[in-house]
Amino acid sequence: MNLKDYILNVENFPIDGVGFKDVTPLLNDAKAFEFAINQMAEFVIKTKADVIVAPEARGFLFASAVAYATKKRFVLIRKPGKLPRQVISVKYDLEYGTNILELHKNDIKPSDKVVIVDDVLATGGTTEAIIELVEKEQGIIAGISFLIDLESLHQKELFKQYPLQKILKY
Ligand code: IMP
Repeated sequence: MNLKDYILNVENFPIDGVGFKDVTPLLNDAKAFEFAINQMAEFVIKTKADVIVAPEARGFLFASAVAYATKKRFVLIRKPGKLPRQVISVKYDLEYGTNILELHKNDIKPSDKVVIVDDVLATGGTTEAIIELVEKEQGIIAGISFLIDLESLHQKELFKQYPLQKILKY
């Protein structure tokens, strides 16, 4: 199965000049979704991680299924004001402006082995912020899994110090 058949490129979304990878056709096809989740699950098992961490919103779609398939804990990373209990936050730079991501305090225990799951690697800013949150809680990054890597948007060696899965490259 070629998973690229289930990813659509949408020009000028969300703003002019950007080519957006739409993963919803993959979710719309039960076999394609199963195929993608099985590959992510295989990688997650190999990392020997205790816990899967993912950012909203599309990261949740993949990470939740992978957590179920691998019987791992699932921890959410959310935008500010969404998590109801005490949080730790990191601020990170976007091309224009800044963003904040949050993690519930004590969701990650010291020495927890953490694998990050997300749909798309673009500049890497989101993943860098997640790594910072996990490390603030003294978790250890055991691996990072992306469905899609947009290679032209970041340095080639980005995250090479971690076990890395990139299922589809553009
Ligand atoms: P980064 O922080 O620039 O690496 O952007 C990655 C985040 O933005 C991920 O959480 C993705 O869900 C989202 N993202 C960036 N580009 C795309 C895209 O083309 N399609 C879907 N999601 C995207």
